[in-house]
Amino acid sequence: MDPTQSSLFRALFGLLLVLCLHLGFDGSAAATDTAFVGARLYPAPDAAPIENGVVVVSDGKIKTVGPADQIAIPEGAIIIRADGKTITGGLWNSHVHFNFPPLDRLENEQVASYVRDISLQYGFVHVLDTGSAPGVSAELRRRIDTGEMAGPTILMANGSLVPKGSAPFYVRPTIMPDVAVPDKAQEQVDLILRSGAEGVKIFSGSIVSFTNIVPMDVESVRGIVDAAHKRAMFVVAHPTNNAGAWAAINGGVDILAHTFPQQGWDRSIPLVMLERNVALIPTLKLWRFDGERFGTPEAVIVNSTRAAQEQLAAFSDLGGQILFGTDVGYVTDFDPTDEYLLMQQAGLSFAQILASLTTAPAQRFGMADRTGKMEVGMNADLVVFDEDPGSDITVFAEPKVVVRRGQIVFER
Ligand SMILES: [Zn+2]
Repeated sequence: MDPTQSSLFRALFGLLLVLCLHLGFDGSAAATDTAFVGARLYPAPDAAPIENGVVVVSDGKIKTVGPADQIAIPEGAIIIRADGKTITGGLWNSHVHFNFPPLDRLENEQVASYVRDISLQYGFVHVLDTGSAPGVSAELRRRIDTGEMAGPTILMANGSLVPKGSAPFYVRPTIMPDVAVPDKAQEQVDLILRSGAEGVKIFSGSIVSFTNIVPMDVESVRGIVDAAHKRAMFVVAHPTNNAGAWAAINGGVDILAHTFPQQGWDRSIPLVMLERNVALIPTLKLWRFDGERFGTPEAVIVNSTRAAQEQLAAFSDLGGQILFGTDVGYVTDFDPTDEYLLMQQAGLSFAQILASLTTAPAQRFGMADRTGKMEVGMNADLVVFDEDPGSDITVFAEPKVVVRRGQIVFER
């Protein structure tokens, strides 16, 4: 799209929104359809791309999708020419933090631009917040849902529970609560549920100092997992090393929030993760970020990154579920380009990386019936790229236009 078309695009979508609000989305009058025409479409990671495709969006949903010669564009539809572009479903970043000073000290515009910079500008219309200051994400979610600001759909894994007396040294002076004894686990989980969270975050391995990593005891993990599952909540664990990974897996958690790249990592872990349906968020670029932050020698950084890539590759080769995530917000560099490159260098294909960004998280978080693919009836969560990320994986980091539920939420 040239700039004129883009501005027109935005104006028309704005108009569409106003019309829809007036019409109350109840279908009492014919809604305006919008058709993206001419792009290469990746409707799903396991589907062949559609050349010269058409996606018709109506009332925030995908009305039709397919090759141009098979799709009748509805009369009166707004037509967006997207020749030479590529379109995928909306992307997920399944490991983010919203690291704000208290929100009441910021102007709404400052908050909105941070949220845009951390998520929307990279095509992330869904994020999993794995721990921010209390109340921050719930308030962001409220502002996004009420239309006060553009932003992604936010899922929250709250709690940040640590082994007794063993908060990670790098979060100090932030206080993190000790995991409850199993008898009190339901009480602790219910408190987390009331904060608006869909999940619970635990540190099953906590870096107390450079020389001391404390694993959570398995009974405590199990207590939290059972209590969370009773409330249909998931549990995400920060593993750190083999012991922390085993505590998480044996305690029954749903997701590892990171790889756990110690030298001599336990090669038997990926298969057990697969058997117990544990998902993995790789956060590969984190290991260089942390290494440089703490003055780790270059050779150690290289080895850690390589070990993390081996873990990802082993789990991927088995068919394990991988959720794309960068730990952005803790990681101060928001750009996901390096994560894409590191995943590709680990051996993941474009389709596997696309799945980690779309269908895998949609499935893991129970939203596969409405997002993750470009299919009729799904939410119109779309990302338009100037180039094809299937030919150059770094293109994923440079969306041209980002659409969430039929509305443009970012435009480069
Ligand atoms: Zn994190």
